[in-house]
Amino acid sequence: MPLARIGLGSNVGDAAAHVRDGMAALARLGSVTAQSRLYRSPAWGVTDQAPFINAAVLLETALAARELLTALQALEVELGRVATYRWGPRVIDLDILAYDDACIREPGLSVPHERLFERAFALAPLAEIDAAYGAAYQALPAAERAAVVAVP
Ligand code: AMP
Repeated sequence: MPLARIGLGSNVGDAAAHVRDGMAALARLGSVTAQSRLYRSPAWGVTDQAPFINAAVLLETALAARELLTALQALEVELGRVATYRWGPRVIDLDILAYDDACIREPGLSVPHERLFERAFALAPLAEIDAAYGAAYQALPAAERAAVVAVP
């Protein structure tokens, strides 16, 4: 069964609750074999907004990558996401960080996620549950790693 790495994020309302709800909902798409702690970091890109809560899960799923993306987008809507602007506030963001060892560059779907290797808020939780990403996380600038802290 393919193994997908999913990144979750929220910075609206009770962001931690939204991320936990997202983790619970992902179990409907397959078998969640690992889930990270929650991490807090300042908003990235557009910085004039609430801090983000992020997490990652490993998901064994029978869905193909494109089907998985469609399912994640449906979950985002179900969990209350409304479209704002790029890097704007969102109730829940669900991204395919990686899908097995697939390399996909299609309109609307890039796997591994295009910005995975430059984002501490994605790599910190992912490296916690998948040692294969430890080196990529360690390669990030120390200041960026320090900005992403596990929530007690
Ligand atoms: P976002 O606003 O971050 O949720 O980005 C959503 C857009 O990113 C959608 O148009 C997706 O088609 C596109 N996208 C491309 N690659 C991915 C990926 N690996 N995971 C999630 N969304 C992706």
